[in-house]
Amino acid sequence: MGLKGWIAWHAVAKKIDLDALLSTTLATYEMLLEKEGDAEKATRAFWNIGRKAGARMLAKYAEHVGKHAVEFYEFAKTYNFAYYFYTGKTYDKITIIPEEKKIVYEDYNCPLCRGVLAPKEIRDKVRICITVDGIYTEVCKLRGFNAESWETKCRAAGDECCRHELRLID
Ligand SMILES: [Zn+2]
Ligand SMILES: [Zn+2]
Repeated sequence: MGLKGWIAWHAVAKKIDLDALLSTTLATYEMLLEKEGDAEKATRAFWNIGRKAGARMLAKYAEHVGKHAVEFYEFAKTYNFAYYFYTGKTYDKITIIPEEKKIVYEDYNCPLCRGVLAPKEIRDKVRICITVDGIYTEVCKLRGFNAESWETKCRAAGDECCRHELRLID
């Protein structure tokens, strides 16, 4: 998509305050932590919420994305654009690793967890932005790609970036 397309999409995007979204995100994660008992299980549950959101998002924008991502590695661009569309920011770094059938998205100033540092007891396991991976996974599956995305680093866990790794399984 050319720059013109990006600008047009930017103009039609309805904005929600990121702090409002962040409050909801943290409240949801906290609920899941209480319910599931540990950060790993809470993260997986939050990933599943992302998958449900992904199905809705795709249904809503299906007619616009129809011609995109016919080849797996095109998701590097497609998801960068979707990320920009929803957060107002692109990824800082996207790496394609063909030998691992992987696309790696990195955000060093992720708006989805901005200012959050998880409590020490659970910090290394926390993945606050995991709904992104649920969304990427579901949209891939619905578009006929057996792929899974997981957040392998998170700023809320004290990492330098939020990293989403999308891998084609077969
Ligand atoms: Zn983040
Ligand atoms: Zn994160």
